[in-house]
Amino acid sequence: MRSDRVDVVGLLREEIEAFMEELGEPPYRGRQLFQWVQAYRALDPASMTSLPRALRDRLAVHVTVSRPEAVRVQRSQDGTRKYLFRLADKEEIESVLIPDDGRLTACISTQAGCPLACRFCLTGLMGLRRNLAGGEIVGQVLALQDELAQGERISSIVLMGMGEPLLNFAQVERALWILRDERGANFSPRRITLSTVGYVPGIQKLAASDLGVNLAVSLGATTDSVRDVIMPINRRWPIAELLEACRAYPLPRRRRLTFEYVMLNEVNDALEDAKRLVTLLHGIRCKVNLIPLNASPDLPDRPSPRERVVAFQGILHDAGLTATIRESRGWDISAACGMLRVEREKA
Ligand code: SAH
Repeated sequence: MRSDRVDVVGLLREEIEAFMEELGEPPYRGRQLFQWVQAYRALDPASMTSLPRALRDRLAVHVTVSRPEAVRVQRSQDGTRKYLFRLADKEEIESVLIPDDGRLTACISTQAGCPLACRFCLTGLMGLRRNLAGGEIVGQVLALQDELAQGERISSIVLMGMGEPLLNFAQVERALWILRDERGANFSPRRITLSTVGYVPGIQKLAASDLGVNLAVSLGATTDSVRDVIMPINRRWPIAELLEACRAYPLPRRRRLTFEYVMLNEVNDALEDAKRLVTLLHGIRCKVNLIPLNASPDLPDRPSPRERVVAFQGILHDAGLTATIRESRGWDISAACGMLRVEREKA
């Protein structure tokens, strides 16, 4: 096996053009290769029939087109499908396909594991194994699309799987530019949502980039004393600093931030919390997504009772905030929010 082969899945279109020039080819050959890989999802240079035969033979020597390998698929009774992917170094990650009303959302991981240890999240129990490369993030989308029937197409991407995307900023940014490229998978940034724990320097970097994707912020509490405990990152970047970064985030017209609020019984679900939330979010163009906890024997908290979630939502509504309750999807296969975890020791 040659170790100097270039994996083109993680390359930006301009980088593939430059690579082709190094091979002595005109840049448009690079655009063609990019299109084969990202739009047609070709795996083998031999199948890239718009390229001259001799070039295909050379590419077979110089490039690889990698894919995370699907080693297990689980299907929920609600149609959600969870994929366990194995990466080249045997690390494993999970991705989820969520069908909803004719639309299809791909929930993608950005790290193997996660270092942040939010109290309510199973991925946090794994710790961080490693950051994913851009090509591994793109590769999940391509691999999921490969699984679909003719005519089925992923309609939106959410970076809400394993990991904290803003702690892997460079590779996430790379992946999103590749996925956005109109000669590739051509995802409009409106159809991409990045969800963050509230890592303030990352929010600022995202704000300074031109990526233009939707931003969701996992708030989860209305006081620092509670947030410090359930989301330890708050000790470094408390609520006031987080919301300041949110207020400074340049929102395209007609778009809103999303605040996710996981609801933990008698921890953060008091009606006083709802009132504080209204005050905190005052003046921010946003909507609130209430997420009843997906419980597990390995997690200390219990979900808020339905009627409390509804009452909480009512207070937000009365104050003029848009608030939705996220219906749990894929719960029976542990594919719902916060339930992605890969057991380290396997038989
Ligand atoms: N690190 C990012 C993205 C992954 S978590 C982030 O923190 O936003 C995606 C969403 O699932 C977050 O809003 C998180 O608060 C929520 N979540 C995590 N564990 C959960 C659980 N057990 N039940 C319900 N939602 C959970």
